[in-house]
Amino acid sequence: MAEQQTGAAAGKLVIRNIGLMLSGDLARPILDADTIVADKGTIVAVGKAADVDAGGAATVIDAKGTTVAPGLIDSHVHPVFGDWTPRQSQLGWIDSFLNGGVTTMVSAGEVHLPGRPKDVVGVKALAVTAQRAFAGFRPGGVKVLAGAPVIEQGMVEDDFKELAAAGVTLLGEVGLGGVKAGDEAKHMVAWARKYGIQSTIHTGGPSIPGSGLIDRDVVMEADADVIGHINGGHTALPFDQIRDLCADTRRSIEIVHNGNEKAALHALRIARDIGQLERVILGTDSPAGSGVQPLGILRLIAMLAALGDVPAEQAFCLATGNTARQRRLGCGLVEPGRAADFVIMDKAQHSAGRTILDSVRLGDIPGIGMVVIDGVVRVGRSRNTPPATIVPEVVA
Ligand SMILES: [Zn+2]
Repeated sequence: MAEQQTGAAAGKLVIRNIGLMLSGDLARPILDADTIVADKGTIVAVGKAADVDAGGAATVIDAKGTTVAPGLIDSHVHPVFGDWTPRQSQLGWIDSFLNGGVTTMVSAGEVHLPGRPKDVVGVKALAVTAQRAFAGFRPGGVKVLAGAPVIEQGMVEDDFKELAAAGVTLLGEVGLGGVKAGDEAKHMVAWARKYGIQSTIHTGGPSIPGSGLIDRDVVMEADADVIGHINGGHTALPFDQIRDLCADTRRSIEIVHNGNEKAALHALRIARDIGQLERVILGTDSPAGSGVQPLGILRLIAMLAALGDVPAEQAFCLATGNTARQRRLGCGLVEPGRAADFVIMDKAQHSAGRTILDSVRLGDIPGIGMVVIDGVVRVGRSRNTPPATIVPEVVA
């Protein structure tokens, strides 16, 4: 239990007999390798069985010819505390996402906290507390990067300096607090950036009564690092504005499950047409009014591959390597030095697809057989996905 909560790293881990290895890297999404070796939670070797040192492992997983990908990253969640969300009165939602292959989550603000403070001292105190709480408690081993303050009027440069010194690395969605004007937000976003705090902005119409419209001009003026839910959360901007945000900025293009799907496909198409697919990252934007989706990232991958004309192996990169690079995370890619976070999958039983990638192209989501975080097996056959045709096994 203690290990699950702290995410303590394991000893040597070998995953062998991998049929398809997805790297998370758009430039080379499929690796010609069948074995991964990790030690103390970090990948140390990736290659053919004959070429890597697989001896002396504490844990050996036989993938039985199935598919290994980096653990999925949800770029946009709204946690509160522990494995509880008041938004839809759910317990255990993070553990449910683990069963959907998600090993890392990035908070876009702990905005659902009942009585969330709006004064500057309270905003800062909540951010530090949330960062500490999720650093110390990892439901099922999932890494929840939280403590993402939502900027309010009256914040000054020293506030961002103080937050950064206290360990805060993220700003919650700009626009969900009292600061909604671009000229006001841009100073705070720049101060945050100066001290190494990455920012995200709400894009599109109001999410719920009380929040507001953030249009193209505000997004461009505020210049946050991540164009949060470019496909709306849920209400999307007009398509010409989405096009401009893709083509006329260099910021991360975040597509979310709880947004407008037509707008998601539009943003994806623009990003591909301008040759900047590496900027596209995926999130669920949950818990939210639309609910809590344990399979949200897998569903987005399947939707974009099936309807967005992105090869399935590239669609997985949007939720892994792209997010890791855009957000400067140490996971998301199968390469030495990265976190040993993996999702082991196979095509779902009775999918019409011939292979797992074929099944995703057809719009099916894969079956998850095992999830590994920091070199530790966290779950076996998923309780939430359709059953995988073949399930990996811990053999030593
Ligand atoms: Zn939002």
